Amino acid sequence: MLFKKTAALTRAKVRNILSRVPVIGDHAQELPLLHRIQHLPGHERRQLRAQERRRGPDVRGPPEARQGLAVARAAGAAWALHLAGGPHATAEPGEVLEAGFDLCALGEGEGTLARLLERLGEGGPAEGPGLAWREGAEVRRGRRPEPVDLDRTAPFPPSGERGGPIEITRGCVHACRFCQASFAAGVRLRHRSPEVVAAWAGLQVRRGRRDVRFVTPSALAYGSDDGSPRLDRVEALLTAVRAAVGKEGRIFLGTFPSELRPEHVSPEALRLLRRAVDNRALLLGAQSGSDRLLAAAHARRLPVG
Ligand code: SF4
Repeated sequence: MLFKKTAALTRAKVRNILSRVPVIGDHAQELPLLHRIQHLPGHERRQLRAQERRRGPDVRGPPEARQGLAVARAAGAAWALHLAGGPHATAEPGEVLEAGFDLCALGEGEGTLARLLERLGEGGPAEGPGLAWREGAEVRRGRRPEPVDLDRTAPFPPSGERGGPIEITRGCVHACRFCQASFAAGVRLRHRSPEVVAAWAGLQVRRGRRDVRFVTPSALAYGSDDGSPRLDRVEALLTAVRAAVGKEGRIFLGTFPSELRPEHVSPEALRLLRRAVDNRALLLGAQSGSDRLLAAAHARRLPVG
């Protein structure tokens, strides 16, 4: 079944997809497919939601997976192969495959997607490293991919108009039980360098998106090896980004999706943020006020108050 669908993705079609890829980053091959799904016109998205309300979902599985699959189906041609990635697909590939996806990318998907497209372009099988798929009732898993170098991957599609928060740090040292940040991306912190973050921020502002936001599990630990605050590195990052976006751009750090750990907040940190960012509110991630729950979750974050 899966083989039939992949065979229908002909070499010419893959070549056509790859030929539209701008050369930014080693793994930029993923961008046209994702771009296409994200750019489903508003009226088609609304139609899709209305259809689902009228008829009810036609697939089982978690709501996010159903919604994602519906969007992917609407955006894709008959030959489309449906690949899910991200925290849920990594943690529960069986559920997501049950919802109707053909493949799940496990952990970091950038390299996996690029290798999948290469394999398909050469007429090879879809199944392979970094992926989970079904074989009868069994869920099979390929070897998990090596961590990517963030400087060599694209934080958002370099072509088109869309931007998005720029991921500055991946992985988390804290490994809370309910969160995939450490399980999907590892407990070693990897950071995108200030120069590269600044280049992407500048591109976004030149495209007319004034507000530059960042994705990180812990904003003040940017540049750190062990998860402790590194204000010198945060300052270097913000200085580089300011130089790239000038007065036109607005910088948001310490607010969603780049919150602060409560125990990292200090007078020095607040002075730096006041000087270097445009947000005037900060979000502190306090997971629970209960020491018992924090201990149960392995969350080493301090309760507030
Ligand atoms: S500290 Fe935050 S990002 Fe890190 S594992 Fe815990 S909840 Fe996830």
